[in-house]
Formats: sequence, structure tokens, C-alpha cells
Amino acid sequence: MTMKLKTIMEKNKLDILAFGAHPDDVEIGMGGTLAKYAEKGYKTGICDLTEAELSSNGNVELRHSEAEKASRILGIHKRIFLNLPDRGLFLKEQYIQQIVSVIREHKPRIVFVPWIEDRHTDHGNCAKLVEEASFSAGVKKVKDDSDLPPHRVSHLYYYMINGYHKPDFVIDVTETMEKKLSSLRAYESQFIKSDASLNTPLINGYIEGVESRERLFGKEAGVSYAEGFLTKSPILIHKDLLGETI
Ligand SMILES: [Zn+2]
Repeated sequence: MTMKLKTIMEKNKLDILAFGAHPDDVEIGMGGTLAKYAEKGYKTGICDLTEAELSSNGNVELRHSEAEKASRILGIHKRIFLNLPDRGLFLKEQYIQQIVSVIREHKPRIVFVPWIEDRHTDHGNCAKLVEEASFSAGVKKVKDDSDLPPHRVSHLYYYMINGYHKPDFVIDVTETMEKKLSSLRAYESQFIKSDASLNTPLINGYIEGVESRERLFGKEAGVSYAEGFLTKSPILIHKDLLGETI
């Protein structure tokens, strides 16, 4: 690898990369967590697999500018738009390779995807594609278009978009909840009712529903607000139940 390519790759390196099927998915599920890590100086990124071109409200250009605004509010270091087809996120080798390239280029330590059981099948399909790509990204002999070296993702966790699932762990977002809500309000075409809006489940109190869920997750953990996550592998704790480092 040339020195120049090495320098570019170091510059692109992210600590956390969260994938969503549509712009706004990541903000709904874990905007508070990303803002929290960004405030601590970590490099966070969002990759939207599609441009949500089939959404009932808004259009691709508007959704792009709303996503950029939301990213600025959350302190996102890099937003990646992959332009895969909305409602077409099937397990195709070509899509997996494109996601492998994104992972190898940005070398995230942790990857987040939507929880598989979300009622919107695009969200579960996004998770499956990224699960496959995260595994393949670490396999040296799997070639992608970019021809970048392999990168092994340390952890893959699941965030929630629609509905309430029992979390395996929660992250306290009390301090960044306001940023999360502002980032959602940045998606005016999706969540704010106007004369031109078609009636969708997102328009009628969706943000309030997300706020209530995070309040409940927080209440169960003894803080004001928390975001809930699921994991397929056990979490290794570094502090014991008495708060001592172990
Ligand atoms: Zn979505």
C-alpha cells in the first residue's frame, strides 16, 4: 500500500459506524448515543443504504439536506449515501461488496444495524446485508471493488427503530436527548405535518413515541433517558457490579 493511500485511510477511520436502510433510521434508534460519543471526541459515521426514494413524503434531494442537517446536530464525522434501491435490499453479492468497501475504507471498531425483527422489512434486510458484509470485510481473500486490505469489525450491535423490544443493554443519553430530538425534527418532511403531507405513521406523534420509549428505557436503568440495544454475543463488562474496574 502506498504512503498516500495509508494517510487517506487513517483520515477516513471511524470509531463507530451505524448503518440504516433510510436516512432517519439511525437518528431514531441511536441519535443520542452517536451524539454522546461525538461529544467525547470519537469519530462517528452514518451510512444510509438507500435514499428512501419511495417515501410517501418528501423527495431524495430534500431527504439529503435533512440528513446533512441532522448529521451536523449530532456531530457526525461522515455521512455516506450508498444509493441501493429502496424496497430492494435483498441479499445480493453486489450490495454486500459495496458495503464491504465502506467498512474497509472506514475501518470502524463498532458497527450498528437495525434490529432484525423491526416491522419494516427493509430494516431487517439492512441488518442482514451488513452482517454479511461485516464478516466478509475481515476475510482477506474476499475481494471488493476498492481492493482495500481486510478489516475485522470488533462488535456488531442492533438498535431499535420501530416498536419496543427488550434490550440487552442500554446507553444513558440523558445529556444528548435534546440533540436526538432536534435531529429528528430536522427531518421535517417525515415527522412534521404540513398541508402537503400524506398521512403516514411517522407524521402522527412518532417523535413523541420515540421520546417515551427512551424515557422508559431510562427509567428501567435509573436515568432520565436511555437508548436500548440488542446483541447476539455476550457483553464483556469492564466494571463489576459494585463499579470496580475488573
Ligand atoms: Zn427506515
